[in-house]
Amino acid sequence: MAISLSPEQQKAIEEQKANCPFCKIVKGDIPAKKVYEDDQVQAILDINPAAKGHLLVMPKEHYPIMPLIADKTFEHLASITRELCLAEHDGLLVPGSTVFIANGAAAGQQSQHFLLHIIPREENDVLRMLTPPEKSIENKEKIQKLHTDLRNNFGIMMRNHLKRMGKPLPPETSPEKLVALIEANPPLLELALNKPEEFKQMAQKHPQLSPLFKGKNIDEILALLQKKHEKKEKSGKPVLSTEKEQNETNHDNSHHDMGNDNKNAEDDGEDKVSLDDIARLVGGK
Ligand SMILES: [Zn+2]
Repeated sequence: MAISLSPEQQKAIEEQKANCPFCKIVKGDIPAKKVYEDDQVQAILDINPAAKGHLLVMPKEHYPIMPLIADKTFEHLASITRELCLAEHDGLLVPGSTVFIANGAAAGQQSQHFLLHIIPREENDVLRMLTPPEKSIENKEKIQKLHTDLRNNFGIMMRNHLKRMGKPLPPETSPEKLVALIEANPPLLELALNKPEEFKQMAQKHPQLSPLFKGKNIDEILALLQKKHEKKEKSGKPVLSTEKEQNETNHDNSHHDMGNDNKNAEDDGEDKVSLDDIARLVGGK
């Protein structure tokens, strides 16, 4: 059972909330790499990761320490943590993960907003737990790629997982949404545009894709996609910008800043599949 608070403690929490970076992330006032979100819980990539894919999972409501968390919220937090561990296991192909909670400052809790860490682990990695390495943000592009990979895969994997668990699935995805999902995943997009027959086979057989495309008219989806990208080509916008831009960046290091601008423009494109879409896909909303 969650413990209850005195009026003074309640007041202290209200003051914490006003300056809490994680509360600001919840409200959207501070940007973060969110990989999961529903009405009660959000998960973001840690900006100072102890390992690739290090996630912070937290209640959206500000709770300074674990014993204050409302029972229902805690149950939900635990259940989502379990789903995210599985999603990381499947998505990052890591054999295990460390889930840890620093409950209170004495235990190393660094933020005043209670959160839980999921750290993907490899066999014999040299990660010394509870002493994360002192390094700042990893290479920005790597983080962006990781964020995209996780975001693209979580919706599909969570849906499959819900199915395996016999839980109710979120509403079926529309052809337009499937087009957006394909577009958000460059290798899939390339296959769909250039090798539609191979794409069709994969969409029907791939363990993660087939549930999404089951019962769908894949020809119709491919036609929609082709049509959209014909238009883009005519308007001079590259269809598969990723590789080209990467090559440009590689050959021209003097324009590093420009490369970053391109990267940002690319991000905007990827956001066609919004967090809301993913949340709906995984059944959060
Ligand atoms: Zn907070």
